[in-house]
Amino acid sequence: MDLIYKSTRNDNETVTASEAILYGLAKESGLYVPSFIPKMDVSLEDLSKMSYQETAYEVLKLFLTDFTEEELKYCINSAYDSKFDCEEIAPIVKRDGANYLELFHGSTIAFKDMALSILPYLLTTSAKKNNVKNEIVILTATSGDTGKAALAGFADVPGTKIIVFYPKNGVSPIQEKQMVTQRGANTHVIGITGNFDDAQTGVKKMFSDAAFGDILAEAGYQFSSANSINIGRLVPQIAYYVYAYGTLVKNGELACGEPMNVVVPTGNFGNILAAYYAKLMGMPIAKLICASNDNKVLYDFFETGRYDRNREFVLTTSPSMDILISSNLERLIYKIAGESGETNKALMKSLSETGVYEITDEMKAELSDFWGGYATEAETAQVIKEVYDNAGYIIDTHTAVAAKVYKKYVAETADTTPVVIASTASPYKFTRSVMNAIDPAYDEKSDFELVDELSRISGVKVPQAIEDIRTAPVLHKTVCETEDMRKEVEKFLGI
Ligand SMILES: *Cc1c(COP(=O)(O)O)cnc(C)c1O
Repeated sequence: MDLIYKSTRNDNETVTASEAILYGLAKESGLYVPSFIPKMDVSLEDLSKMSYQETAYEVLKLFLTDFTEEELKYCINSAYDSKFDCEEIAPIVKRDGANYLELFHGSTIAFKDMALSILPYLLTTSAKKNNVKNEIVILTATSGDTGKAALAGFADVPGTKIIVFYPKNGVSPIQEKQMVTQRGANTHVIGITGNFDDAQTGVKKMFSDAAFGDILAEAGYQFSSANSINIGRLVPQIAYYVYAYGTLVKNGELACGEPMNVVVPTGNFGNILAAYYAKLMGMPIAKLICASNDNKVLYDFFETGRYDRNREFVLTTSPSMDILISSNLERLIYKIAGESGETNKALMKSLSETGVYEITDEMKAELSDFWGGYATEAETAQVIKEVYDNAGYIIDTHTAVAAKVYKKYVAETADTTPVVIASTASPYKFTRSVMNAIDPAYDEKSDFELVDELSRISGVKVPQAIEDIRTAPVLHKTVCETEDMRKEVEKFLGI
């Protein structure tokens, strides 16, 4: 059966999968959601014998039903190849009592590569299928990792341009260096004086400005999105939770059908939503543990049913989770609102006008699969040291938030279900924060001295992504005020 996509803000707007990928965002800033969640149609035992690419195909074919088998296999095999530094693509390592699902083996060493290495192929295939003649302009807001992964994916892809906005003072030094050294004539990177929420709001505004869309079309352009609001990012992310289950069965950690819990360090709610979709597909996933840093808007929401972004935006050592408007939560809200575009739209209107919305008790009762927790800055640093001392394993700051929240979860619930912790970035991406957590004396050293020291104490080779930026020239120097984002887009496109 063909799967169509509906808008979370208008029950009458439906599109095919390839159209949803092309457009990125639905009208009136709605998000596309599948009209139903398909069930996995291979056995868990068969899954445990599949490669990453085979697993991805089994998932993608169910969600992207207007793609042919040949198209999907082309996209999958082009994405998950030697750009990844290990054959498993998303290996699991068991350390200090938890299974860490390492999602950072792609070319920019954060989990964003899992989806952004395939998105350019899905998008250009979608354009072809829909006879799009316009050049596609990927407009992206980043809290640090999406930007680089999207740039790497789209650099020099014919028929595309990519523009990335990042918070000038809100990303790690390595994250910034990775972005501003990006090559490719079709790439444009701009720092903004605001925070991530400002960047995301500015991008969404340009998307939903129909008059601006007309001006672009006249010049032969159309926008699409590389943010996790694009279902072309969300669907590939489901694959690694399915693959993780298969891996644990293969490793003898789980018997077929035995449940696992999943812990996800969360910002925009894309990664954990993918895990939820995997559960709805029938994978034996029990709890979805949502880990936040000091920007704990999601923790408060799961506790109280009230989403309140009116609070101080805190800059933390896990910058990719410094977010107060968690976009993908809207897809969950839509679901628990009985898939009513009207109810969801009213809540989102309240969010944009007052910064707050509150769900009913009935809706809240549908969130029992989720458990929210958070880790403070001190707890995050402490757990990095603890895992290193116990297991010689160095985790990044985001993964550490998840590791700490998992410890709190076990302490509170005594639940001993085997767990997968989504390990979302290489520690090399946040070297200074990670090394300071292990020993504050490291703060004296330069960024690249710390890189070499990290390699020495962990025994993990310095990733190519880091070697590449040691000496790379800075190619992007533009910084603009939040209000001027549109002007920068116009300038780059010459319109
Ligand atoms: C983006 C990111 C997150 C948050 O993921 P969401 O899908 O936005 O919830 C967590 N950790 C790292 C390292 C990231 O880059």
